[in-house]
Parts: sequence; structure tokens; C-alpha cells
Amino acid sequence: MAVIIDGKAVAKQLRAELAQQVAQMAPAPGLDVVLVGEDPASQVYVRGKIKACKEIGIRSREHRLPGQTTERELLDLLAQLNADKSVHGILVQLPLPGHIDERRILSAVLPQKDVDAFHPENVGRIVSGDYLLAPCTPAGILELLDRYDIPIEGRHCVVVGRSNIVGKPQAILMLHRNATVSIAHSRTADLGGLTRQADILVAATGRAHLIGADMVKPGAVVIDAGITRGESGKLVGDVDFEAVAPKASHITPVPGGVGPMTIAMLMKNTVLAAQLAKK
Ligand code: NDP
Repeated sequence: MAVIIDGKAVAKQLRAELAQQVAQMAPAPGLDVVLVGEDPASQVYVRGKIKACKEIGIRSREHRLPGQTTERELLDLLAQLNADKSVHGILVQLPLPGHIDERRILSAVLPQKDVDAFHPENVGRIVSGDYLLAPCTPAGILELLDRYDIPIEGRHCVVVGRSNIVGKPQAILMLHRNATVSIAHSRTADLGGLTRQADILVAATGRAHLIGADMVKPGAVVIDAGITRGESGKLVGDVDFEAVAPKASHITPVPGGVGPMTIAMLMKNTVLAAQLAKK
């Protein structure tokens, strides 16, 4: 039976470490979260982020804008936040309403305040290996591997999913850690043939139970970033946990694996951004 990687406990530990760091910082780091529209899932995420800020001692402000806010109005708010020295981190909650160009908005956040690390300058820095702020979910996965002393160098990491927020940056970050990386996606011809070669398998597709036991090499480390809501409202991962756990060496559950790390890493990025602002 695999070691179950306890993301909830690691995230708690990380938040405690950050709280200690923040207690010594003056002024305290500040995070501004911008939410446009009424998407219920986004409201839940934003609440979680604000709650984590409070717990750690990060000052937070929430900017709730109506769904019909124009791109210009949102750009004006971002310009204000960019210029405000008390704002260290800016997060625009995605998805944005369809009439707003997401790329234009993400490009308007000052790169050194961009705690999601989605600005093209930060993306470029991540690719070239010259970065401080890394996207929260992939960085959280590395943090989990590190805290469980799971070696990355020289191992074959297969990342299933190639989105800009999870799969692609995950693959790049693993490459910087000297893994041999393969990226799979919906057009990959023989997904199982590839995943069975993985020493570390990261699933980030949003396809419930896509990864079954027959797709995993015995002794592999299996990380599940996927979150889908099942019929009963229960959260389900990309990995069939019950089937895969007996075969893996380590595995993350859903919920309680990768999910809690994402917010903890956002807090870490906010602290980093506040330190950057001082330089
Ligand atoms: P996207 O929908 O943007 O990307 C999904 C990726 O999975 C795509 O690259 C897609 O391939 C690939 N994919 C879809 N179906 C298959 C398949 N059958 N076989 C192989 N690859 C497939 O999702 P995100 O990257 O934004 O999110 C992925 C999952 O992670 C979601 O469940 C999301 O909820 C979760 N997530 C969790 C977070 C957390 O905090 N834990 C944070 C962010 C996301 P293609 O490119 O070819 O379409």
C-alpha cells in the first residue's frame, strides 16, 4: 500500500512557517484579490484565499466587481493596484466573463505583483529558469515531493495535461529539477503505454478516474491534481485512488492532496512578492 501524501498537513505546516515569517515583516504583506461576476465556485475559492491570508497575517482586500464590468474598468483597477505600494500581490480570479480578454488582463498585472505567475514575463522567466514566482499548483506539487523526500532528478516524470496553469508549467518545473519529462494530452496515441513508464506520474486533466491501476508502473509516485465534482457532489480526482494506491509507492488523495497546497503556495508567493517589493 502506498504512502498517502497528506497535502492538508503539509499545507498547514507551510502556513505556520509563513505566519512566523510574516510576523517579522513590516509592513505586513498585502494581497488584493479581484473577482468579476458571480461564479459560485470562484466565490468559494476567493473566500478560501482571504481566510488563509487572515490566518497567516497577510493583509487582504477583496474587489468584487459586477459581471457586466468592462475590460477598461478592470484595467483601470489593475493600474491603481499596480501603483499602490501597500499592495504586494494581485490576483485576478479566473475565469473572467466572456466579454473580457483574459490574456490582456493577465498581462496588465505588474509582473512582480503577479502571485499567480501567469503574466507572459513570468511565464518566460519560468521557461528560462530565472524565476521567483511560480504558478501555485505545480509549485505546490514540487513542495509535496520535496517534503516527502521524493527524488526528482533523473527520474521519468509523465505529466498528463498541458494547460498553461498546471500541466505545462509542471513539466517545465520538473525539467529544471533534472527530471526526464514527457507531456501527455488528449491526442496522445497510447496514454497507458506512456504513463506505465512514469516514475512520477502527475495527472492534471479534470477527467474523473482517467488513470486506472493498469496505467501505473508498480512503485510509481502518483500525484493527482484533478478535481471533478461527482454525481453525489463528492470531489473526484483524475486517478482511481482505490485501484492505484496498492500499486504506487506514494499517492495523493482527492480531496486533501494537491488542492490545499495551491492556496498555501499563493500565500508563499505573496510573501515573496512583498520581499521583492523591498529590493
Ligand atoms: P484544462 O481543462 O485547461 O486542461 C486539461 C488538460 O488535460 C488538457 O491539456 C487536455 O488535453 C488534457 N486531457 C483532457 N482529457 C484527456 C484525456 N482523456 N487524456 C489525456 N489528456 C487529457 O484543465 P486545468 O489544467 O486547468 O486543470 C486540470 C485539473 O486540475 C482540473 O480538474 C482542475 O479542476 C484541476 N485544478 C486543480 C487545482 C488545485 O488547486 N488542485 C488548480 C487548478 C486546476 P488537450 O490539451 O489536448 O485538450
